[in-house]
Amino acid sequence: MALSDETVDRLMGTGIPTVAEIEAKYPPRNLKEGQCVTRIAPSPTGFMHLGSVYAALISERVAHQSGGVFMLRIEDTDTKREVEGAAEFIIKALADFGLKFDEGPLNDHEEVGNYGPYVQSKRREIYQAYIKDWLKKGLAYPCFCSEDEINAMRERQTKAGGRPGYYGMWAKCRNLTEEQINANLDAGKPFVIRFKSPGKYINKIAIEDVCRGKRFFPENDLDIVIMKSDKLPTYHFAHLIDDHLMGTTHVLRGDEWLSSLPLHIQLFQVMGWNPPKYGHIAPIQKLEDEARRKLSKRKDPEANIAFYGEKGYPKEVVIDYLMNLANSDFEDFKRDNPTKTYLNFELKIERLNNSGPLLDFVKLENISKEFMATLSAEELYARLYEWAKKYDAALKQKMDTNSAYFKQILNIERGNCERVRKDFYMFSAIYPEIKYFFDDEFSLSAEEALSQLANLPKEDVKFIADTYLNLYNPNDTKDEWFAKIKEFALANGYAKNAKEITKNPDVKYKGTVSDVATVLRVLMTGRRESPDLYSIMQVLGPERVVQRLKLLA
Ligand code: GLU
Repeated sequence: MALSDETVDRLMGTGIPTVAEIEAKYPPRNLKEGQCVTRIAPSPTGFMHLGSVYAALISERVAHQSGGVFMLRIEDTDTKREVEGAAEFIIKALADFGLKFDEGPLNDHEEVGNYGPYVQSKRREIYQAYIKDWLKKGLAYPCFCSEDEINAMRERQTKAGGRPGYYGMWAKCRNLTEEQINANLDAGKPFVIRFKSPGKYINKIAIEDVCRGKRFFPENDLDIVIMKSDKLPTYHFAHLIDDHLMGTTHVLRGDEWLSSLPLHIQLFQVMGWNPPKYGHIAPIQKLEDEARRKLSKRKDPEANIAFYGEKGYPKEVVIDYLMNLANSDFEDFKRDNPTKTYLNFELKIERLNNSGPLLDFVKLENISKEFMATLSAEELYARLYEWAKKYDAALKQKMDTNSAYFKQILNIERGNCERVRKDFYMFSAIYPEIKYFFDDEFSLSAEEALSQLANLPKEDVKFIADTYLNLYNPNDTKDEWFAKIKEFALANGYAKNAKEITKNPDVKYKGTVSDVATVLRVLMTGRRESPDLYSIMQVLGPERVVQRLKLLA
């Protein structure tokens, strides 16, 4: 039933602009053929899901590939869930990942774009104007049911084996007369505003989803709440108004919203507005006990985007990884065009993985290893330093006091060398890999060294260390250094390699040249495996080398 202006003013107050005034402020966008306007619309809850960055990347790409517009809209009408500072966190996270929006809030009081405000709590009057319009047109009505009444109704519905919700004969306030409404207002009863759904649940409708193709749904018949008693709109209504006024052409969002699609389309239809194209992105999954499940905000630390910052995955790596999840042929593109970035790749919505891409840390680590291998020692140092500043004060201090030494360490097997090291993949794992360079961290005991070298008799290990101490010359070139080790080994009963041992079954070898080198390696690093030993010894410098060679003396 359409309500009179007086009753609508009593419900919603006066001094609110009219719909016509608002529409005039949001002229349609001047788009060229094919240009897309997308948005992400996160709620500031203090947590940013990896899936939200994934959806943001897809939305950003779709907009910018087409020469269109990418917007950020903060959906903060659910004041109970809002967390202080969360909007800033979202803005910063997008900037960190290089996902640049053309329109949206920049901070608490500034924004870019002509279709704002882009923070829903600043659009109160806009929603209220449309609510007034809907009440006058009979598209919405006030509902005075208390929470207890709603709960009791739900219980009855479930008991009777029916669908819970405010619809059809259960929609008690749907047919209140204007007099009844005014009497309730006189009595000071609180109310919400509900949408008067024209739909029938038994009707099936087909909707084209840009990710999933044609899908069939029952028509929406729920009289959902569109404005709460605090006079703030609910998400469904706010998204309708915003995407209409802001000229959104594509809503690409998580598939938890797929079930709301019939409602959303219906909301656009009752207004006679063109709905945007909707695409529902399948959630990122993980493998647990050989079964796939959705990445969970509650259970999985890696669902939180902050996890990647803390661990120290470079932002480019996270983005490239998400590109891989989105379009699996991105991997081929990267292999064929190693110097190009994801911005040169055309992401296709139709090619999204609709069964939910699987989070695979091995893949992520490999992408990261490849990326880190492209950094110079200076760049790696700078990035590690930035990371340490935020997450590891002790490391930052160590870098401050040993900056030149640190850069030399990071330069090992990097830059102009035959084989760039590819074992670094996250900043938090770098220091543990190199800490043997620092005497205060290097606590190898003679017993530990000997137990790592248990393949050789103790006396032989000692002999190698003692003899090498006399041969060692810090000025040797790499060739000289290696020739010395080899010469010493061959002269003392070690084979050139394992092949030589097999070839001469009658000769009693003590081991191989490589075994001799391993003795030195363990003494220098405390490990049997390491990057290039010559470089390590060069960086350690004669004083440390000599001291470490004397461990068994
Ligand atoms: N505010 C909604 C959310 O937090 C956005 C849904 C949409 O993109 O339409 O997920």
